[in-house]
Amino acid sequence: MSTKNSHNKGLSRKQIIITLWQALKDAGIASIEFEGPEIAVYVNNPKYILENERVVADLAKTIRKRIVVRAKNRKSREETIKFIMEVIPREAGVSPSDIEFDDVLGEVKVLVAHPEKIGVNLRKLQNLILAETGWRIHIIKKPLLTSRILASVIRHYLEKSSERRKALRSIGERVFRDMVVGTRYVRVIGLGSFGEVGRSAILVDTGESKILLDAGASPTGLGPEAFPYFYTSEFRIEDLDAVVITHAHLDHIGMLPLLFKYGYRGPVYMTEPTRDIAILVLQDYIELARREGRDPPYTLKDIETMLNYTITVPYNTVTDVAPDTKLTFSNAGHILGSAVAHLHIGQGLFNILYTGDIKYYRMKGDKGTRLLPTAAYQFHRVEALIIESTYGAVDTQSREEAEKELIEMVNKVHKRGGKLLIPVMAVGRGQEILAVLNRAYKEGRIPPINIYVDGMVYEVTAIYTAYINLLAKPIREAIERGENPFISDITIYVNDVAKREEAINTPEPAIILATSGMMQGGPIIEYFKALAEDPKNALAFVSYQAPGTLGRRLVEGEREIIFEENGHLRPVRVKLEVKRIEGFTGHATRSELLMYLRHLKPKPRTIIFNHGEYNALTSLALTVKRQWERLGFKSPPEILIPENLEAIRLYPRYYKKNLSLTYSG
Ligand SMILES: [Zn+2]
Ligand SMILES: [Zn+2]
Repeated sequence: MSTKNSHNKGLSRKQIIITLWQALKDAGIASIEFEGPEIAVYVNNPKYILENERVVADLAKTIRKRIVVRAKNRKSREETIKFIMEVIPREAGVSPSDIEFDDVLGEVKVLVAHPEKIGVNLRKLQNLILAETGWRIHIIKKPLLTSRILASVIRHYLEKSSERRKALRSIGERVFRDMVVGTRYVRVIGLGSFGEVGRSAILVDTGESKILLDAGASPTGLGPEAFPYFYTSEFRIEDLDAVVITHAHLDHIGMLPLLFKYGYRGPVYMTEPTRDIAILVLQDYIELARREGRDPPYTLKDIETMLNYTITVPYNTVTDVAPDTKLTFSNAGHILGSAVAHLHIGQGLFNILYTGDIKYYRMKGDKGTRLLPTAAYQFHRVEALIIESTYGAVDTQSREEAEKELIEMVNKVHKRGGKLLIPVMAVGRGQEILAVLNRAYKEGRIPPINIYVDGMVYEVTAIYTAYINLLAKPIREAIERGENPFISDITIYVNDVAKREEAINTPEPAIILATSGMMQGGPIIEYFKALAEDPKNALAFVSYQAPGTLGRRLVEGEREIIFEENGHLRPVRVKLEVKRIEGFTGHATRSELLMYLRHLKPKPRTIIFNHGEYNALTSLALTVKRQWERLGFKSPPEILIPENLEAIRLYPRYYKKNLSLTYSG
């Protein structure tokens, strides 16, 4: 693409190895391995690293790669536990039973109740423990609520440690290969979520590498129409270098295990909370299909394989995902762990920013009530932006109005002795609503009323409490003070049929939070069938409802719903109050999307709108077309609303299109 060849290439594999050997020879290098996106240097003398901390950091900067130092020899578990207990202060809350060893990778995972009380710099602590014991320590925050999933993730990696190592090595070999053809072009192909909401999947092709952004399922439809266009000839699993997942909603991750079922054995990049939530959400997807008598598209085994190939990446960490592509995640503000993905292609030749789903709020009064910080909007370079447009057509009510309305609703339903049913996605809205209700209860704005929280929502809430450093400041501070912003004495955890029946049959007024958020299956259906015909009850929608879902049909006024039960048809007459309170949405509203474009730095030359219904996409695109100057663009950006399967070729700034035929590389 560029005529300057050097521009296209970084250090070769050989150059990297030579540089490392020279710089770290005093540490006594035993071997150098490519482990996933990191270069692992095994050393005989880890004390050298402790005494020369800058060396590794500087080295990473010079070769622009992530380096991890591991010790060749390690002390016994007993000695290591003893040392860890000595160096981590007692008030941080660590016990020997919370220390787990991975013999294959030489890593030790330590669950700590109050990591903020460790006091010393974590990297220092890590180097100290490495120097003294040979083990590489990972501090994990112990969640406030017991989480089945977090425990199972740790167990999985301990049990599958050697498969994991094999996977990391094969990924490493591919990531750090010398380039075959180099970056020849940049093409973006929508395999899903272009011209629609759902089944997000975007292929980025550079000639040298192919990267898939998200692998979602559609909220409607159960057959092939629920899948992205994985069966098009553009998409070949064996050519795929990496999958990048922005967040753990089904419309972004639901079909990821399917790739593994069909033989994909490459890396999947996501944040740590996204991985934890994903396991829960995907297991539930299978479970739900089974319960409804359908064949799930993949099995638990495929999810396990996926986990072996999953590489978690923190925000703001540049990671090599292919020889010519670097990935950086930044906070997206949408749900816990959600990320906007920045792809840096061909040594700076081209940069793509893909928002996934974002939340962007700026109002001051607004900030105190939010669970997550707002989306990142400053980047080094951005030539093309792919941005979601869910609420591109109309603005929803403000967050304050939404809260007020919800509180009023609770009081009204309580007064008439009814039950308030709130369908929520297990991830995101569930936690927001819990936090709002909990605060209102503590401030005396709602009466003591039982809040039944159905299984998945509760589990995900536990995961939220394990990542408090990613939550917004007021929430984080509350947790550090020992409060639980999600759970109080009126919260009841529903984890079996008996509790579900209690929630339905109790004569007391109650609030019930259950999945799924668009009422396409899940426990919400059972509650709805039981409660719909009593006008004392109410149903409040707090998130986006996709066309064709039961939620959308109810919002649009359908008042008789026919369910199929064991081969019989059962009509349910909808007499409960149906209300839509969308100000809680985790998506940027229309004005937030425009504000995001205004604040975004630097300004892209191309904007691709996706993840929206037709009117949302066109309305937003038209506004940007008319108001580009007011949005701070120096020249009109190229605006695209492609359909799925359309390929868009993106050109670097100084590329002359008419020279493409004479291009020699
Ligand atoms: Zn989402
Ligand atoms: Zn989405």
